[in-house]
Amino acid sequence: MNFWYNKNAPPVFIAKRSKTILHPFTIGKYHGHTLNVYQGCQHRCGYCYATYEWSPEFYNKIYAKNNAPEILENEIRNWRSGDILPVMVSSATDAYQPAEMKFELTRKCVKILQKYDVPYYIFTKSTLIARDLDLHADYRDKCFIVWSITTADEKIRRILEPGTPPTASMFKVMEKFISKRIQCAVNIDPIIPLVTDSNENIDTIISLCKVAGIKNVFGAFLRLRYDIWDRLKMVFALLNMNLDFSINHYKKIYGFSEPLRHDNNLSMERSLESTFLNNIASKVLENGMINGFPELKENKFPYNTKFKNCDKRQLTLNNYLDS
Ligand code: SF4
Repeated sequence: MNFWYNKNAPPVFIAKRSKTILHPFTIGKYHGHTLNVYQGCQHRCGYCYATYEWSPEFYNKIYAKNNAPEILENEIRNWRSGDILPVMVSSATDAYQPAEMKFELTRKCVKILQKYDVPYYIFTKSTLIARDLDLHADYRDKCFIVWSITTADEKIRRILEPGTPPTASMFKVMEKFISKRIQCAVNIDPIIPLVTDSNENIDTIISLCKVAGIKNVFGAFLRLRYDIWDRLKMVFALLNMNLDFSINHYKKIYGFSEPLRHDNNLSMERSLESTFLNNIASKVLENGMINGFPELKENKFPYNTKFKNCDKRQLTLNNYLDS
């Protein structure tokens, strides 16, 4: 049976030096910076969007940018932007994948962000973040943690994202963060048609969020690219799904014929997608939670005067998502 990574080889760690570490992004009229201290990811999610930018060895060779803390501090000191821009940790890897146990680059960089009063958002599907519970708790008004959860079914998780911790363990860690009043959200993303889109799965995740005390829940459907489509067909086979039926269903709801072009980045049929997402929103609201990101309060940021031309305007992640 084919896998999308080398099942029999443990990931290899390679230390490297980077020239830059903060990279600006713009979505609509909003801006921020991404911070990725690793390249590659041991979580090995079959649907990973980040593989596009890197090599096919993305899952097996983990590069650690071991000068990241030093470069980050230099880049922040030289920041010339008119705004204090939030930093997204991470956009193309998981900052708390197992490599972090060895290198501690995320922890060191978070300390630097805190030193310069830079707000940050961490996206993760790891339990290792519990190591830094107190660090984030001390900065609770200027950060939030977004947990990506795709499935409550362990059999599916082990195949779909074999390097991630069990979903139940992630919820246990969320409970610890919430008990420290750290802002946490759950992003059910990506929702994968025929694999994780059942009412049973979504309802279970929403119930687990409620029990953990999560207040903000939202989700998004899978976008389809040629490399993701190749891996997804392996997932179908590993889950013993009916291949002809599954492939035809995807062709219909994503509107394509094989082979997928390399420049395709397809969304599911709009009306189907919005019906499903509206259904999730209703369930989240019925359970007393909010369908969207928590707001960070602007007036809680004492901006550091080292930043030039700061106009004290702060963006929230809602700004990014709504644009
Ligand atoms: S955790 Fe994120 S970056 Fe890592 S493999 Fe999964 S989707 Fe990709």
